[in-house]
Amino acid sequence: MLTPALSHQGSYRGRFAPSPSGPLHFGSLIAALASFLTAKSQQGQWLVRIEDIDTPRVVKGADSDILHTLEAYGLHWDENVIYQSQRHSLYEDALEHLNQQSLVYACQCTRKEIKLRGGFYDNHCRTLNLPRSGNALRLQQHFPIEKFHDQIQGLVHIPKKIAHEDYIIKRRDGLFAYQLVVVLDDIEQKITHVVRGADLLEPTARQLGLFEQLGNCAPHYAHIPLAVAKPGFKLSKQNHAPAIDKRNPIPATLAALRFLGFNPPSELTTATIEEVLAWAVQSFCLDTIPKVQEKPMNYDA
Ligand SMILES: [Zn+2]
Repeated sequence: MLTPALSHQGSYRGRFAPSPSGPLHFGSLIAALASFLTAKSQQGQWLVRIEDIDTPRVVKGADSDILHTLEAYGLHWDENVIYQSQRHSLYEDALEHLNQQSLVYACQCTRKEIKLRGGFYDNHCRTLNLPRSGNALRLQQHFPIEKFHDQIQGLVHIPKKIAHEDYIIKRRDGLFAYQLVVVLDDIEQKITHVVRGADLLEPTARQLGLFEQLGNCAPHYAHIPLAVAKPGFKLSKQNHAPAIDKRNPIPATLAALRFLGFNPPSELTTATIEEVLAWAVQSFCLDTIPKVQEKPMNYDA
């Protein structure tokens, strides 16, 4: 079957966007590998962006550790690595642009108050004209997305209340929200395809709406299944997933390939990482990636 990705042959631009809150673990290797292989199988560019906008979560030195790990795993990126922390003026300009269209308003609702009102933001402060300082900033939602097509997950439905919610674009603590900056970065980096973990499936609807609001074409999305150690336990830095071994990239890479539906031949266990990746690029097909994790994780990184 011809996947939509093939229509972008030659102009494909994908990206891997880790947050530097700890070392790369098996779950993030799967995401890096999936986006790398999708890009390289389309003769595309693969960019790396360090998502360090959420400064309280940034761990000093984690960015360079992540980049060294990618290199050790043969995942060499194109162009310069982008750091969100160095792009405040881009985000500030975009906020100002939205503000001039009267789309931005201050909100003083606490998490607790929103929970008491049913857990969804009911656009309570839209017309209150509250002062900005000390308050979060929300974007009026004029492009609600209730469903979209994902290249792996198929048709994705978003609950109406989430789709229509005015969401936060600048936090009370003055930090820009992920939803805003990720779209601005994808526009500025001319990303055509996003391949990432299925935990970001729901935020994709907001991002698609924001691309429309900003008058830009959205990339294609493909959400790979999340690696869970056991039901409900995502392999993540928060769950203290162990770092992958920089000195011995083959076992983790082969395990990640199997997770993604590949069937690597046994001779690859003694191959170089370059040979393993060359085989994977050659054998890559988006259609073989399962929608959900097929068996419990027995890989011990
Ligand atoms: Zn409010």
